[in-house]
Amino acid sequence: MSKFLGLDLGGTNIKVAVIEKVGNTWKVMNEEDVPTEADKGPAHVVSRLAEIAGKKQKEFSDLSGVGVAVPGLFNSDGTIELFPNLPGAWQGFQALEPIKSATKLPTAIINDARAFTLGEAIMGAALGKRTVACLVIGTGVGGGVVIDGKIQLGANGAAGEIAHQIIKFDGPMCGCGARGCAEPLTNSSAIAKLAGTKTAEEAYKNAVAGDEMALAAFKEVAYWISITLTNIMVVLAPDTIIIGGGVAQSGDILLNEIRSAMHERAHLYPASDINIVPATLGFYAGSIGAALYGAITAGAQLSLISTT
Ligand SMILES: [Zn+2]
Repeated sequence: MSKFLGLDLGGTNIKVAVIEKVGNTWKVMNEEDVPTEADKGPAHVVSRLAEIAGKKQKEFSDLSGVGVAVPGLFNSDGTIELFPNLPGAWQGFQALEPIKSATKLPTAIINDARAFTLGEAIMGAALGKRTVACLVIGTGVGGGVVIDGKIQLGANGAAGEIAHQIIKFDGPMCGCGARGCAEPLTNSSAIAKLAGTKTAEEAYKNAVAGDEMALAAFKEVAYWISITLTNIMVVLAPDTIIIGGGVAQSGDILLNEIRSAMHERAHLYPASDINIVPATLGFYAGSIGAALYGAITAGAQLSLISTT
């Protein structure tokens, strides 16, 4: 049997997962995380990733491919374009080759939200579903689309950026440079600002306690998310939409608001036809998805959709 390694590079932690296909089902064989030490710069961070890959290859002798999830934009040759949340001169830095030469295995790079989507689509919240969209709500709002077990990257890797749909023409400027994207209307700081709290988690606690301002904040954010997702309904007709990120997974308040706002908004077909569900893989979702992408790159794309 072959195993595949996923590395998920975050600002604080590098999350690591090893997966294997057992029968018709993908299983997680190993999970761990180590500090990124991002303040020590790109060369240090990439050498840590390469070191982990080498260590895991020794630990799992049948490792057959590696996937690396990264928090930003990159070129197909593995050079980095932009890591907005990691310090240091990342632009033009070659992040893939050192990891590849540490193991001599097929090694692929993927955006972290796309990796999260792939993990949840194949092994998590949308297990067994064929047409899946995902929104990951945090400081930024990531997204992804998986169709028949295949993560959609489009012509240049930018497919699936659901939160950069322009949904309010006179809305706030977005970090991507456009005006009116969904991201600044739906991210964790939008929730906190509307709720009058420091964090989205605090807003959630207040909403559970019945605080009117916090409840109104979730209603407003759900309104903008419902527009974003109703557009996705038209383009994709997904059977499942996964909502990830801390606030989405802490309870039903946001999801119920999204479901009811979409019910009002969607008329082409009922929004109730779509499962809107929280992500289920937790902390290691991105590294599990990265490992799946490593498996696909290594040629294991057959039967990616589990039937159990
Ligand atoms: Zn944008």
